[in-house]
Amino acid sequence: MSADVTVTPKPILPGATIGVLGGGQLGRMLSQAATKLGYRMHVYEPQANSPAGTVSHQEVNAPYEDIAALTAFARECDVVTYEFENVPAAPLKAIEAVSVLRPHWSVLETTQNRSREKNWLKRNGFAHARFAEVAANGDLLAGIREVGVPCVVKTADFGYDGKGQLKVMSEADVPAALKRFAGQPVVIEQFIDFSCEVSAVVARSTTGEVKVFPISENIHTNHILDFSIVPARVAAEVLARAESLALAVAAKIDLVGVLGVEFFVTRSGEVLINELAPRTHNSGHYTLDACVTSQFEQQVRAICGLPLGDTKLISPVVMVNILGDAWANGEPNWAALLADSSAKLHLYGKGDPRPGRKMGHFSVVSGDAKTAYHRAVELKSRL
Ligand code: AMP
Repeated sequence: MSADVTVTPKPILPGATIGVLGGGQLGRMLSQAATKLGYRMHVYEPQANSPAGTVSHQEVNAPYEDIAALTAFARECDVVTYEFENVPAAPLKAIEAVSVLRPHWSVLETTQNRSREKNWLKRNGFAHARFAEVAANGDLLAGIREVGVPCVVKTADFGYDGKGQLKVMSEADVPAALKRFAGQPVVIEQFIDFSCEVSAVVARSTTGEVKVFPISENIHTNHILDFSIVPARVAAEVLARAESLALAVAAKIDLVGVLGVEFFVTRSGEVLINELAPRTHNSGHYTLDACVTSQFEQQVRAICGLPLGDTKLISPVVMVNILGDAWANGEPNWAALLADSSAKLHLYGKGDPRPGRKMGHFSVVSGDAKTAYHRAVELKSRL
């Protein structure tokens, strides 16, 4: 892993240029936070007019594998980060010769592949669901037998939001799994009958300073995050355990930047790490409206080597994702949402509202999380 923390103490101050690989909503909100602080933002993204590109100083459109274009882009930047987990890690090594890449490419390499990620967790003693790996053209049935049914079969690469995974809840589901994943490298995980899912966004700066945002409780629908509730409705010991795991992961992986950590909370109160993402996280969007510092400002602070911002929660909050499905009957009813003074709307400037596509989110702030949740459910239904 990188030795960045010990060798690069000089802060990158406003006026400098931050580059981001990936032009989605996470890049857009990073750009909004960075430009507010007086930085210049450059975006590298294969598709033109991306959500991040349209709010930044410059957008370069080229494939992620184009080393010449990546190098030319990085040369213009004082620091480069990434907002998209599926940027291939290998070409990023070229950036190191001309600029600073944070987090280090090795952090992305470890976390973007489920096999490498699970093995990293296992090697470093972090609690996780039991798993088996099956190489391309390996014996998938033997892997399923090793873990046992129920289990979840997941492709090793390019997985997020439940993409590339299948639950095998009984013997009857085994043939479908064998067919779907034939020949592919996969990870087979023990199915966790969790009581809830929670997550943390943790930041670590070049000095090794580390801070975690309040833990979010997450409700998924069709594998996609639907609601984030903060404070999470779990025992204080669960919160403390999740926070300490996130802080420990950030230090162990030698993070410089921010990292999302997803957890399963088992019915016996055990906290298992499900997934790591070395970037801001959907479940951390609540910080924009409810914390002293947002996760995006924290990302700027961490990658620029500034002191980290205060992660304190100012108000209980519930965040709701707005998916393309909300356009099924035409433009959503924004007027109804905006009529509520406690609702904060964020749209990502995406043109094509496909089902399942993350188009925006809104947060409801309230004196208590229960009221915020009820308002959020009602407002979502009015869209
Ligand atoms: P992932 O893309 O791995 O984060 O999975 C998406 C969602 O699928 C998770 O947030 C869980 O709701 C569910 N899921 C994934 N893996 C498991 C598992 N091993 N046991 C139970 N549910 C799972």
